[in-house]
Amino acid sequence: MSSASCQFVVEPNAAPAGIEERHRLMSIPEFGVVFTDHMVTIRFSIENGWHDARLVPYAPLSLDPASAIFHYGQEVFEGTKAYRTPDGGIVLFRPDCNARRFNASAERMGMPAMPENLFIEALERLVSADAAWVPEAKGASLYLRPFMIALDKSLSVRPSRDYLFVVIASPVKAYFAGPPVPLKIWVTEEFTRAAQGGTGFAKCGGNYAASMKAQAEAAANNCDQVLFLDAVNRSWIEELGLMNIFFVLEGMKLITPPLNGTILPGVTRDSIIHLAAELGFSVEERLYAFSELCDDALCGRLKESFVCGTGAVVAEVGQFQTRHKTFTLPDRSDSDTVAQILRKALVSIQRCEMPDTNDWIRRVSTPRI
Ligand SMILES: *Cc1c(COP(=O)(O)O)cnc(C)c1O
Repeated sequence: MSSASCQFVVEPNAAPAGIEERHRLMSIPEFGVVFTDHMVTIRFSIENGWHDARLVPYAPLSLDPASAIFHYGQEVFEGTKAYRTPDGGIVLFRPDCNARRFNASAERMGMPAMPENLFIEALERLVSADAAWVPEAKGASLYLRPFMIALDKSLSVRPSRDYLFVVIASPVKAYFAGPPVPLKIWVTEEFTRAAQGGTGFAKCGGNYAASMKAQAEAAANNCDQVLFLDAVNRSWIEELGLMNIFFVLEGMKLITPPLNGTILPGVTRDSIIHLAAELGFSVEERLYAFSELCDDALCGRLKESFVCGTGAVVAEVGQFQTRHKTFTLPDRSDSDTVAQILRKALVSIQRCEMPDTNDWIRRVSTPRI
């Protein structure tokens, strides 16, 4: 089905936030609580495929309480950002990757795929309508949240026939405020995130719902994030609740767990792997046991660890903690860490401050409303 069959109806917000109000809203530091003037909605039904595409004022959705989404959680989402460039333009970073991953997630959840060009058009239309909401400040961006929910008014347990796709946008500051403080990572020995055959590789709300308790346990232990180990052996390192993880070993070697079905294939992860290789690192995607991490840390082979995702970009890890032990990574705050080098390389491509040799950048034409 081509998106040509899906004409957008554009209904501009008659009462958009004024300039002062917008600036006030954009200065709120909390992540993901302020939204722009518009949103995109597109419907899907078995009979009509994707149809009824709209760019409309941001507003609450009105849904039947029996809608399948509320009962069995048939839902997928994405996360990407629009960035302001030095010349005042706006770009998206690898939105085709998000479109493909969205479809891979949808497929796993028994939901319909969306033509990649329609997915990208939805992002572009929203960004260009709300271009004034794309921040200029360093580290700030417009976070885009596409998602799809099951709409059937039915308590039967089966894939829905009707779906709603929505894109909303939220201006965000740098995820971790202030100068980078190395993260404390709680390694949970009790909870797991995903198993073979499950939904670990899909970006679905259910994975997050199931990780909240472990995240609360991390917070109760004064840690920032939780690291999950594999569900079978409880030994192989997988990822955090919302970020992938890398280890830097001596000899310019990077290790990151392989995409074996239980790990979310991060666009940031993939970009870091490319950039690290370009910068002369050897990158191994391989199983890495928590015990191996402990050994490498104890004997000094482990130089750094960092986590990555669209929200936080790249953040350094300072400490790993379990119920039984804590180990701290060497303090490297006085020198250029590999994490900082890779972060800088990635951010300067996203901001168009470096040549985009990998064809990752997609310019958004503005304004379009
Ligand atoms: C979204 C997500 C990531 C990071 O993916 P990016 O595409 O880099 O933002 C990592 N792990 C999980 C579980 C995620 O949901």
